[in-house]
Amino acid sequence: MGTFNDEGVVLRTHRLGEADRIITILTRQHGKLRGVAKGVRRTSSKFGARLEPFAQVDLQITEGRNLDIFTSVVSKTLLGRPFLDDFPRFTTAEVMVEIADKLVPEEGIPALQHYLLLVGALRALGEGTSDGVRPTAMILDSYILRAASLAGYAPQLDSCAICGSEGPHGYFAPSSGGTLCSRCRPAGVPAISSATLGYLISLLTGDWIQTREIPETRITEGSTLVRAFLNWHLERGIKSLSHIVRE
Ligand SMILES: [Zn+2]
Repeated sequence: MGTFNDEGVVLRTHRLGEADRIITILTRQHGKLRGVAKGVRRTSSKFGARLEPFAQVDLQITEGRNLDIFTSVVSKTLLGRPFLDDFPRFTTAEVMVEIADKLVPEEGIPALQHYLLLVGALRALGEGTSDGVRPTAMILDSYILRAASLAGYAPQLDSCAICGSEGPHGYFAPSSGGTLCSRCRPAGVPAISSATLGYLISLLTGDWIQTREIPETRITEGSTLVRAFLNWHLERGIKSLSHIVRE
């Protein structure tokens, strides 16, 4: 059984017996890993505080028969520190790590792009970016669209999701995977304004310059559509989405 090093972001931790924890972590080189960290719940353990959610750590992993063992964990950055007391940002980060856990399903398959996306989104939530701190809803919705895209189901926003005719189109159906033309639209599918559609395209492509002067109502309308899209595509949805605290 081999031993290797990697860095990762802690997604989830569970108790295991008296002193151990099972940790789910998204690593830079080895994708998602689940393993046991021994002794982390003893107050004397140097592991404990480093293995909280949103912590970015360097770790040594020993492959086990059933579960890997995390034999060494060294903290790089507590990405959650800037928002530990800020409930809107903290609950938003919880949604992000739950999405990462769901959208990177295979353990041990490299997921570098998702790792970089998650670290970037948690940084944007905490420290902000070079042009300031963005609304949490905007950071989350961009993360959702780009994470879905990496998982292979980007919403189709520039053409009709049914017939493929070139857009922009004026209707958005989460269950069809994107915008629909007026011929393909089933009854009851709501309209989407061209401004909101443009905003979603900016979030998906990471074109932040286009999102600087977005009114609150458009951010809210975009959020409703993005989250309906996510919930439609994920079995059982994202639990933590319902616990999110609004700014
Ligand atoms: Zn169509």
